[in-house]
Amino acid sequence: MKQWGEKRYYSLDYYLKQTYGEKIYKISLNAGLTCPNRDGTVGTGGCIFCSDQGSGDFAGCPTESVTEQLQKGKAVLRDKRPVHSYIAYFQAFTNTYAPLDRLESLYMEAVQDPDVKILSIATRPDCLSKDILSLLSRINKIKPVWIELGLQTIHPASAAYIRRGYPLSVFDKAVADLRENHIPVIVHTILFLPGETKEQMLQTISYLNRMDIQGIKLQLLHVLQGTDLASVYRTSPFHIPSMEEYIEMLGECIGHLNPDFVIHRLTGDGPKDLLIAPLWTSRKRTVLNALEHCLKENDIWQGKEYHG
Ligand code: SF4
Repeated sequence: MKQWGEKRYYSLDYYLKQTYGEKIYKISLNAGLTCPNRDGTVGTGGCIFCSDQGSGDFAGCPTESVTEQLQKGKAVLRDKRPVHSYIAYFQAFTNTYAPLDRLESLYMEAVQDPDVKILSIATRPDCLSKDILSLLSRINKIKPVWIELGLQTIHPASAAYIRRGYPLSVFDKAVADLRENHIPVIVHTILFLPGETKEQMLQTISYLNRMDIQGIKLQLLHVLQGTDLASVYRTSPFHIPSMEEYIEMLGECIGHLNPDFVIHRLTGDGPKDLLIAPLWTSRKRTVLNALEHCLKENDIWQGKEYHG
């Protein structure tokens, strides 16, 4: 059995401690940008599950500068524990979707903070032009830059259902371009999209296993108030897994996952005041404990079923 510290999977926590010798905390930022899937360039309604905060419900306040948001984020974290290193995480909306000089000044403001060790940027694969890639490559030489791509699924029918707005080939090209520029790629996936079978979820995992990516987020679909998904759920409720069902699926995904991928997320913690379903997901500690138990009980570890 392979182990990463005490865990049966390659956690982000383990990676950071091994690489930087300490725990590094994420501060979620909202740069006040928008998204081509909302402003009419690709679509107007956005992805079906996306909240009006652009999937950045825990991010800072967009009217504040990056520096102010970082200061506030640090103060909250330092209140609880002694922390001195951070990941500046541009989370809300599409963080490579703005004029180049605006992006440069946002990123530079973050990396100039001496406590920021890593810049993590969430975006869409169709928003990575040559100029942006070369900007990212330049910043990556100052401090590590991670790019997080919202793929969610490899299946065209599910991608159409969630209104993702780009085909899989665009994702493939973005990964190749980023890797050519030596930029680590983290892929955001969503489990239990309406209508997806267990086999389909595992097909997304095995597709990613063959790619040159460095990290993955496994996120359970959340139904949040104010989203189009919430309207669909009210009129024709779709299947929402129980915690046990989700844990079992996570176990399968972890068992099949390439052991070189760092797992950045195993569950989601949607904002409690907006969360419609599944409500059990807000008990994050309980979910992670149940996962540990399931992995041990079934003798699963990351990559057990992966045959490179
Ligand atoms: S690409 Fe991201 S920000 Fe844009 S609509 Fe989809 S989830 Fe929201």
